[in-house]
Amino acid sequence: MKGTSIELKAQPSSRQSRLILGGEITEDTDLQPVVTKLAPEVVVDLERITRINSVGLREWLSFVRAVEAEGKRLILERCAPPVVAQINMIANFTGANGSVRSVLAPYHCTSCGADQLQLIDLNAPNPEAKLEESMKCPSCGDEMVFDDLPQSYLMFHTLDGGSN
Ligand SMILES: [Zn+2]
Repeated sequence: MKGTSIELKAQPSSRQSRLILGGEITEDTDLQPVVTKLAPEVVVDLERITRINSVGLREWLSFVRAVEAEGKRLILERCAPPVVAQINMIANFTGANGSVRSVLAPYHCTSCGADQLQLIDLNAPNPEAKLEESMKCPSCGDEMVFDDLPQSYLMFHTLDGGSN
């Protein structure tokens, strides 16, 4: 997908907005117009993000600052692998008070080559250990294993003491 898809869901009376972002976050992305439309609690679904470049990262960080300046709270969920990489590298990716609820972890089947993303809930006990477990390949039934480094994929969460 080229460009960014931005979808905002909120009940008018709701205390919570759901912002669904997809595609690439780049110099063409403008998240500022949605800031004032957000409820006090903002759940951002990042499942469909495929790439964040350096200019896009600045745009994201200025979005996070603008949201927090309005006293709103960010909760990131279903973070795709390119987002997880940024969270691990950029200390203030989630802002001062934001949190990460869940991430998607890449799994690979060496038997048939299938790739699959698995949702990892960071509020569940010991999500790091979950990455060490294999899962059943939906294509061939063989064993799928986590396709990144289990010790560092959830680094941001581990360093945070697992508090969320
Ligand atoms: Zn397979």
